[in-house]
Amino acid sequence: MSTFRIYLVFLAVLLLTACERRQDAATRPQGESPAQAETTAANELIAVYRIPELSELQTGEAMAVACASEVANLKEWLGLLEGFEGIPTAENYLEPYNAVLVSATNMAYTAGTLAGVSPDEGVRKAADDCSQSLTSVFSDYSLSRPLYERVSQVELATADADTQRFVEKQLKAFHLSGVDKDDATRARIKALNEELTVVGQEFDNNIRDSVLYLELDSADQLAGLPQDYIDAHPPGEYGKIRISTQYPDLFPFMNYAKSDELRHQLSLLRNNLAYPQNQAVLEKLLALRFELAQLLGYENYAQWVTADKMVGSPQRVESFLEELKGYTTESQGREYAMLLARLRQDKPEASKVESWQAAYLEEKVKAEDYQVDSKEVREYFSYNHTRDGIFMLVQDLFNVQIKPWQTYTWDESVEAYELWDGDQLIGNFFLDMHPRSNKYQHAAQFPFRNGITGVQTPLAVLVCNFPSGDGLMEHGDVETFLHEFGHLMHTMLSGGHRWADIAGISTEWDFVEAPSQMLEEWVWDYDTLSQFAKNATGESIPKALLDRMVAARDFSLGLDTRRQLSLAAMSMGLYNQDPQGLDIKAFTDRVTREYTLFEPLEDGHFHAAFGHLNGYSAIYYTYQWSLAIAADMFTRFKQEGLRNVETAGEYRDLVLGQGGAKPAAELVHDFLGRDISFKSYADRLSAGGQPAADAH
Ligand SMILES: [Zn+2]
Repeated sequence: MSTFRIYLVFLAVLLLTACERRQDAATRPQGESPAQAETTAANELIAVYRIPELSELQTGEAMAVACASEVANLKEWLGLLEGFEGIPTAENYLEPYNAVLVSATNMAYTAGTLAGVSPDEGVRKAADDCSQSLTSVFSDYSLSRPLYERVSQVELATADADTQRFVEKQLKAFHLSGVDKDDATRARIKALNEELTVVGQEFDNNIRDSVLYLELDSADQLAGLPQDYIDAHPPGEYGKIRISTQYPDLFPFMNYAKSDELRHQLSLLRNNLAYPQNQAVLEKLLALRFELAQLLGYENYAQWVTADKMVGSPQRVESFLEELKGYTTESQGREYAMLLARLRQDKPEASKVESWQAAYLEEKVKAEDYQVDSKEVREYFSYNHTRDGIFMLVQDLFNVQIKPWQTYTWDESVEAYELWDGDQLIGNFFLDMHPRSNKYQHAAQFPFRNGITGVQTPLAVLVCNFPSGDGLMEHGDVETFLHEFGHLMHTMLSGGHRWADIAGISTEWDFVEAPSQMLEEWVWDYDTLSQFAKNATGESIPKALLDRMVAARDFSLGLDTRRQLSLAAMSMGLYNQDPQGLDIKAFTDRVTREYTLFEPLEDGHFHAAFGHLNGYSAIYYTYQWSLAIAADMFTRFKQEGLRNVETAGEYRDLVLGQGGAKPAAELVHDFLGRDISFKSYADRLSAGGQPAADAH
């Protein structure tokens, strides 16, 4: 399930290729000199501008008007910033520039988020159009020589560390965007950026709007599924039972349905979402990005996109994937053998395990060898209890308070909250947690705005697709919930910065999954679960059951990790070559065989709905890279206690609260008191697939 746990560093590529984040100028300097007149004008414009409230964006027309106004402002502000004469300083130049970054980022985030969650087709369309218009104007910024020159002239000798880092990040982004290319090349780069936005949206929207159904003739075909699932799927029109490819239908079916054939059919449907629509779209996406990278002076897109990441190059990614492959060779072999042995109990002639059998067999082995019955486990995780429990956890750990927030939401199922630290409002967030037509189908945190000191507090939304109310969640869903909450806390707690590209989740992209993946650990902690994991009669989850779950936790880690490595290798490989003439299906099948023990589905086209190929492009490895870092950071909690509020407080201050103030490796060093080590993760991977009796 972690495959689809997404954090969208929202339009990050767009923002990078464009310029950086934008900020408001509530911090307007007083008594400026005549030489600062141009900038003052920019400041005044920005000071009167405000992003419309969400309640004002309920129609496509309102969205279009708000966006057009922002785009017109951005064009005017660019002229003012480019025409600045005098000696640029942090106060007279960076401040208004930063204000522009914040303003534009707010609009870009809002448009991108509403495109994924608004129930109104007009709003979704206007939001997509808005992102396209913003791409165009962002290109004007990122490719502007006058702007680049003035930012690079800012005197930094006496500036504080945050200001120095802000300028350093800006200048690097200008170079990556192609500011130093000639006029004709910059014009083509701009055109490519615009086209890429349109093609990327088409790819995402085809996935968002694609749902396929398995039709069953009778309830007998639901054999093996939990009773609450059977009750929730009565026969509909013409007496047919419909099972959709959406997660709340899909995952339990793949885990529990007795019928091998029906699991195969549903798996085929899932692996043909957005196919064939996205085949040509993906080919175009790869071709355009390849051309862009070459124009920017890179061999291919993978080289370009890794240049500002922790890894620095595709070669480092490849060596990292190889390293993890080595740690999992033996464990995946042991695990596969256990699944095959279990399959042979039902089918003595079986010689291999198919992909659509794996989750079902894992459930069987867990139940029989480790005495973990997932159907029993889910009894303790109703949505409402889980949400309340996660609130309790983060309130305790980070010393914050969550309170209901009375405000407009775009759908009646969406919940709204305030986050407080004592008497200080830190930020606000929404929970949009249940499936709906035309809604983003995976799980992600989307920001509306980052927190900028004295200007604005953070606002974000968790978008998930869980059962609602007393509906029961899988333990894996609870893990996903916590994961996304990790991103949310990162956004909420990184709000105290002056500069746009320091506030919010603005570390290197391949670090952003580390805080969220580390928080997943708490879903295995009895002290945490016993507070909220209760069944319908109010009994807490038994300690003995959790102990058995912990023992079974890593039983399929080798197989699962190999699947993740295969996705990372696909994502990297598709962008680390000239895509002309590339047979995508043949390529992804080859990678699947290289990394996993399962045959790719002959008629499956997984790549058509592998949404990360747009948003993350080549860098899906981020999940494993961040996980290795998360395991390392977690060693301190393991030693000092998962509920140790002092450790959590230091983590909040030294890592989450820093935003992008330092390179991620330094943040981790500050917290651990030493350099990052992958040893903890390597040890865990190597130990996967131990027989039940030997499991810890
Ligand atoms: Zn994530």
